[in-house]
Amino acid sequence: MAQIKNTNNVKINSDFKFEYAPAPEATDMVKIKKQNKLFINGKWVSGKNNQFFDSINPATGEKLAEITEASPDDVDRAVKAARKAYTGQWSQFSGKERSRYLFRIARIIQERSRELAVLETMDNGKPIKESRDFDVPLVAAHFFYYAGWADKLDYLFNGKSVRSLGVAGQIIPWNFPLLMASWKIAPALAAGNCVVLKPAETTSLSALLLAEIIEESGLPPGVVNIITGAGATGAALVNHPDVNKIAFTGSTEVGKIIARSTVASQKKLTLELGGKSAHIVYEDAAIEQAVEAVVNGIYFNQGHVCCAGSRLLVEESIAKVFVHKLKRRMRSLRVGDPMDKNTDIGAINSKNELDKIKKLIAQAQIEGNEYFEPELTSIPEKGYYIKPCFFNNVASSANICRREVFGPVLAIQTFRTPAEAISKANDTPYGLAAGIWSEKGAKIHKTAQALKAGVIWANTYNKFDPASPFGGYNESGWGREGGRHGLLPYVEVK
Ligand code: NAP
Ligand code: MG
Repeated sequence: MAQIKNTNNVKINSDFKFEYAPAPEATDMVKIKKQNKLFINGKWVSGKNNQFFDSINPATGEKLAEITEASPDDVDRAVKAARKAYTGQWSQFSGKERSRYLFRIARIIQERSRELAVLETMDNGKPIKESRDFDVPLVAAHFFYYAGWADKLDYLFNGKSVRSLGVAGQIIPWNFPLLMASWKIAPALAAGNCVVLKPAETTSLSALLLAEIIEESGLPPGVVNIITGAGATGAALVNHPDVNKIAFTGSTEVGKIIARSTVASQKKLTLELGGKSAHIVYEDAAIEQAVEAVVNGIYFNQGHVCCAGSRLLVEESIAKVFVHKLKRRMRSLRVGDPMDKNTDIGAINSKNELDKIKKLIAQAQIEGNEYFEPELTSIPEKGYYIKPCFFNNVASSANICRREVFGPVLAIQTFRTPAEAISKANDTPYGLAAGIWSEKGAKIHKTAQALKAGVIWANTYNKFDPASPFGGYNESGWGREGGRHGLLPYVEVK
C-alpha cells in the first residue's frame, strides 16, 4: 500500500491507517506479591485451608500471582469481623466522622492512581487508556461523592430519617474490578454499614490494592473486609445467616441463583446483571459522531461492558452509508498490548471468556448471519485477543441479537419508523441501557419514554457520573447504584 510521508515521523497508509511506534506504560511502580492473603478485621491473614489459585495476565497468558481461596470458615471470620466493627464502632460514628474516612480513601486513590491503573490493566487486560482515564478517576469520584452524603442522610427523604442495615455482602465481576468495588463500598460505608466484598476470581489484585489503601486510610478494623475466592466463596457469603444485605453485580444466571437463595430470608438484595443494549440511529443524526460512539460502546474495553451498545438499529435510509463508515473506522482500531497507550482493544480477560466469545461468533456464522471483521495486521500471538466484528441485517429472533456475548461483537438491524425501532429495541429479555441519535429533541424524548431501559443516553454513549443512578429492567437487574438512589438499598427508612 502506498505510503504518504509527513513531518511527524508517523507512517500513514493511503487509506489513512496510522502506524504508531510502541508506547508502553511503565509497570515498575506496581509491586505484586507472589502470594496474596485475605484482608479480614484490618489484618492480612492466611486462608484456613491454605488453598490458592492463579491470577493470569491476559495480555500474555502468564501467571501474575497466587490468590487465596477463602473457605466458608474464612467467610464466617470476615462476617464476624464486620459485625463486631458495626456494633462496636461504625454504627455509632457520626456521618461527619464516616465522611472523613471516605474523603481520605478518595484522596489516596488519587495519589496512587497510576499504580491502580497499571495493576488493573495487568490483571484485567483492558487498555491502559481506559483504566487510567475512565476507571480510576471514576473510582475516586465515587468515594468523593458518597463522602458528601454521609452526613446528609436525613435529607434523603423529606421528613424521614434513615438507619443503616448492618453487614453488607458484596460480590463483583471482572470487567470493572475497581470501579465495581467503589460502587459497592462507598455507598455502603456512607450509609453506616460494614462490608465483606468478594472480587471476581480472575481480577482480585486491584481489590487487594484497594484494601491496602483502606488500611492506609486508618479505617477501623473490620469495617471493610476483602476476601478472595471463586463462586463457592461468593455462595458462602450469600448464604451466611448474619449478613443483612447482598449486593451483586454479574451474570443474570448467577443473579437468579442468588435471588432464589435469599428469597426466604430477611436479606435485602440488589442485582446488577447483563444486557443487550441498543443504539437507535435516526436518519437526521450526526453520523460521524454516532459511528464513533457505536465503536466506543461495543469495541473499546473489548465489549466487556454490561451496558455495551451491542445492538445497532439504524434507519434504513442511512444504513448503507452508516455501515460503510463503521467498516472504515473499524479498520483503524488497534488491537494489542493493553499496556500500550495507543491500544483501543486490549486482551479478553480470560481464556474461558475468549472461548465463549469465539463460540458465539461461530454459532452466529453457522446460523447464516452476514459477518464482517476488519483486516487488522498486528494481533499478538500470545495472550487472549480477538478482532472486533459485526453481524449485519440480523433478524430479531437470531441468537446474536438476543444473547449477551460480552465481547467486541455488534448485531446490526434496520428500521423504517420510530415505532419499529422501539419495538425492536425492547425485544430482548434485558433492559439495561440505550442510546438515541437524532438532531430533534422531541423525537429523542418520545423514543426514550417508550424504551424499557434503565439508562438512556441521547447523542452520546457510556457517560457516567457518580450522581447519576444506574441499573436495569427485567433480566438486567433489580435496584439502582449511583446517586441518591444508590444509598436506598443500604438503609431502612424510619
Ligand atoms: P458471574 O459469573 O456472574 O460472576 C460475578 C461474581 O459472582 C464473581 O465474583 C463470581 O465469582 C461470583 N459468583 C459465581 N458464582 C456464584 C454463586 N453461585 N454465588 C455467589 N457468587 C458467585 O459474572 P462474570 O462472568 O464475572 O461477569 C460478567 C457478567 O456481569 C455479565 O453478564 C455482565 O453483563 C454482568 N455485569 C453487569 C453489570 C451491571 O452493572 N449491570 C456490571 C458489570 C458486569 P468467580 O469470579 O469466581 O466466578
Ligand atoms: Mg487476571
